[in-house]
Amino acid sequence: MKTFLKLIQIMLPVWPTMLLAACLGWLTIAANVGLMVTSALLIATAALHPSIAELSVAIVGVRFFGVARAAFRYLERYVSHDATFRILSQMRVWFYRQLEPLAPAQLQSWQSGELFSAIVGDVETLKDFYLRVIAPPVVAFLILIGMLLFLKSFSSGLMVLLIIAFVAAGILLPVAVRYINRNSGHELVAARTELKAYLVDTVNGMAELAAFDRKQQQLEAICQLNGKVLGLQGRVATVNSVSDAAGNLIMNGTLWLALCLVIPLVYSGQIEGVYLAAIVLGIQSSFEAVLPLPIAMHYWHESLAAARRLFQIVETPAALKSTSSLILPPTAAVAVKHLSFEYDSWGTVLQDISFNLPVGKRIAIVGPSGAGKSTIVNLLLRFWDFEHGAILMGGQDYRNLDAEAIRQMFSVVSQQTHIFNATVRDNLLIAHPEASEQELARAIQDAALEEFIHSLPQGLDTAVGHNGQALSGGQRQRIAIARALLKNAPILLLDEPTVGLDAVTEQQIMQAVQKIMQGRTTLLISHSLTGLESMDDILVLDQGRVVERGTFAELINKQGLFAQLRKFQKV
Ligand code: ADP
Repeated sequence: MKTFLKLIQIMLPVWPTMLLAACLGWLTIAANVGLMVTSALLIATAALHPSIAELSVAIVGVRFFGVARAAFRYLERYVSHDATFRILSQMRVWFYRQLEPLAPAQLQSWQSGELFSAIVGDVETLKDFYLRVIAPPVVAFLILIGMLLFLKSFSSGLMVLLIIAFVAAGILLPVAVRYINRNSGHELVAARTELKAYLVDTVNGMAELAAFDRKQQQLEAICQLNGKVLGLQGRVATVNSVSDAAGNLIMNGTLWLALCLVIPLVYSGQIEGVYLAAIVLGIQSSFEAVLPLPIAMHYWHESLAAARRLFQIVETPAALKSTSSLILPPTAAVAVKHLSFEYDSWGTVLQDISFNLPVGKRIAIVGPSGAGKSTIVNLLLRFWDFEHGAILMGGQDYRNLDAEAIRQMFSVVSQQTHIFNATVRDNLLIAHPEASEQELARAIQDAALEEFIHSLPQGLDTAVGHNGQALSGGQRQRIAIARALLKNAPILLLDEPTVGLDAVTEQQIMQAVQKIMQGRTTLLISHSLTGLESMDDILVLDQGRVVERGTFAELINKQGLFAQLRKFQKV
């Protein structure tokens, strides 16, 4: 029920359109009932050879309901689809808005396939929530009320019969279908999600699978999951077809019983004979409202399962205790004081880290892999909150600053640059969409990207494909550097900009990095010890602690971990 109410709340802005569509749905079926009743009346009356004047009301009725039914059906389809697509965009925007603050800290426990399936599949499922779940019972109820008013003037027995038939076809049958399908629905949604997650994972890891010759096993696993989905779909479809047949059986049984009730009344003269067919056809056409209800029940459970999954993702407790302030800190001077940190129950990753990054200075944090360097970056960018110690920017405590305001202060070159499936130009402008051509050209020049761009068939407007597959590691990093230059934030944060690059490319990238560091407040995080001579201060991190610090020359003289690491890297 909670999930249902939350869903209704999200769809609230679309309510007027949904209500209009429900009214039009009701009018369409009501027009159909009117058409059947007046047609039957017309034919039955005409059989008695009356004057044309006596038929005129029925003729007008047939014309009116015939045209009205088509017009209402058109309008109902138009408005309900409009409502559906509004809901879809509403849901997508809502889901994205909820998801964004969770990235990256809180999304790491979800597989990318699960998120993909939620964004595409579950949101898509929910678009039918109104059209197939909410509207049909409301319309069926309104049609029942209308029919009872119509039948009231003929026989109360017919009213009771119709109520029983509607309860049987509209409540008991859907409940029975639900009972039989009780596990298949959940299992089907879960199996589909599992299949999608597996497929996304397979596509992402295609190169590894080929390299390790695991393609066949992966294919078999996919076939197995697919078989499971097909089996469950088959089960659900079988039950739904049987339910369709049962609905028709109830309808025809009701018509037969209605005839059994009305014929004696016609014989006894309590009902005029011309109404016999009108009553029976009226009842038959009113079933149009009740027959979709078993399927509505199915969609109801599918929608709630999809909604539960979406809520489960977006209700992951936020990593950050949000603050409302969006004011940028007055200066970009960063001070880290006695900072300690642990990821949830993963053990302490940083212990008592302190350093200052004054405006205009350059600091490097180096150390072996797993020392905690990237964790410092995560905390500086406020992807995670910390409990112990403090980070100040411009003298203001991080906890009082909005995460977005903090991130605006950094131009980041990260170790895993994501390249979007777009042109080189778009990939660069993502850092500063309003950048002028001159700014773009300068950034390209400073990141030493010119030669590469000239070699491309359409220069800056060349598309780079999915995740920039056609780009080398060095080219990706140069794009990252150009992005950082375009953003031109007060602090340059270089997080392992040369990781995974060969020695020659590393040298070239470091040259570009040295150039852009000139005159900029810089924090360089690196496991590589090249290009550190110009840094004002170097912190050597090991197992989450600062074990040494000083300038390049001081650290070399100390003959400690830094000197040791340098010796290894030189070999
Ligand atoms: P470095 O950048 O120096 O290689 P990291 O900061 O990436 O080191 O990692 C430090 C430690 O924190 C490692 O033991 C790593 O397993 C752990 N760690 C890193 N990221 C996460 C995360 N998102 N969740 C849990 N533990 C993590």
